[in-house]
Amino acid sequence: MSAVYRDTRADVDTAAIRRNLSKIRRRFPASVRLMAVVKANGYGHGAIESAEAALAAGADMLGVALLEEAVELRERGIRLPILVLAPVPPRYAELAAALDIRLTVTEADWFRQREELRRSLGGPGGDGTRKSDPNAAFPQGIGTEPPNGPPLRVHVKLDTGLGRIGLRSLEEWERIVPWLKREDVVTEGLFTHFATAGWADASFVKLQYQRFLSMTEWARSSGIHPALLHCCGSASALRFPEMALDMIRIGAAAYGFYPSALAPQWELEPAMTLRSALIQAKRVSAGDTIGYDRAYTARGEEWIGTVPIGYADGWSQIMQGGEVLVGGRRAEIVGRIGMDQLTVRLPAPCRAGDPVVLIGSQGGEKISCAEAASRAGIVPQEITASLTGRVPRNYEPEFGSEALTKEEYAWKPKQDVLRR
Ligand SMILES: *Cc1c(COP(=O)(O)O)cnc(C)c1O
Repeated sequence: MSAVYRDTRADVDTAAIRRNLSKIRRRFPASVRLMAVVKANGYGHGAIESAEAALAAGADMLGVALLEEAVELRERGIRLPILVLAPVPPRYAELAAALDIRLTVTEADWFRQREELRRSLGGPGGDGTRKSDPNAAFPQGIGTEPPNGPPLRVHVKLDTGLGRIGLRSLEEWERIVPWLKREDVVTEGLFTHFATAGWADASFVKLQYQRFLSMTEWARSSGIHPALLHCCGSASALRFPEMALDMIRIGAAAYGFYPSALAPQWELEPAMTLRSALIQAKRVSAGDTIGYDRAYTARGEEWIGTVPIGYADGWSQIMQGGEVLVGGRRAEIVGRIGMDQLTVRLPAPCRAGDPVVLIGSQGGEKISCAEAASRAGIVPQEITASLTGRVPRNYEPEFGSEALTKEEYAWKPKQDVLRR
């Protein structure tokens, strides 16, 4: 981590992520593979650190949303199979194959476009000869297609009712089949995603599941036998383990978020504590106003604390009216949340430097991500995934705000810097 001069930070307990995934893993037969979903920087917890925790928990595959997320994991030395859960432009298929990254496909036209691109680059699929120009690098500079390079592994996404991505009709399936049977393509998986896995009424989940099973029959009749049929994210895996099929895709639950109020209590642990410290504390009088638009007016003698976190850190204005912990007690966020700061009404006199916990425990009090999220009307993972790069992620249990190195204390601006 580069130097940090502000007390705002997110402490991440990667052992909790590992334990959560191990607990989930143990609930399923060994034949059910575990995909740990580490998209969006591991739901804000750090992609590499979450991937390593998943590896330690025995995960079989990683799931990401973007090809760049998969490439980053490869660049950082993660060797586990990785599936990009949404289609990427066909021009990046060769990059994915070269890095052993599985792609999601939904239509024949994607393969057709890939083919046209390879022909135009003189790769396989043209006149059959491999006259590739060693200098004609594919986008992203990964180099030309190696002769008899690795196959492209794909998972076909089937839309059974979520309505975002995936093929829906038998006709679309039949158009994609010839491409799936190509020698340089391995159809490793078929999958779908549920729309209502958190609902008390399970009828639509069951309908989607039945549709998925009948669509997998299309594959069988076409002579395609993917090794991995999968449909469950966290909520459905916890609630309907009988629907696990060959693999479950676990995101939210890995980070300790119960994906539904109806999910069984598997003792999942939250993995992030979001901390800061007051940069100012002051006494104000009745009628004094606080923050932009004078949005808060003190009702009497009150103590107001200023916390150095704002919407540019991912602490959105929808968190207005929420609470933080100061001195082991709850303090209400008052006034508008700014780009860099927010203000709280303190339960007791405080001073600058006093520790603040926005998510986590302090003294006997606790504010869970779930509590803060439900007050704001969002899901808990939106809070952690929204934290920007301005909030350092700390993986050292003993790290404290006093952990400046000697060099950092000693650092002095050069005279000419000051004069300029
Ligand atoms: C993000 C994602 C998941 C993980 O969902 P959680 O509810 O966080 O476990 C699973 N499958 C797909 C297709 C996803 O995009």
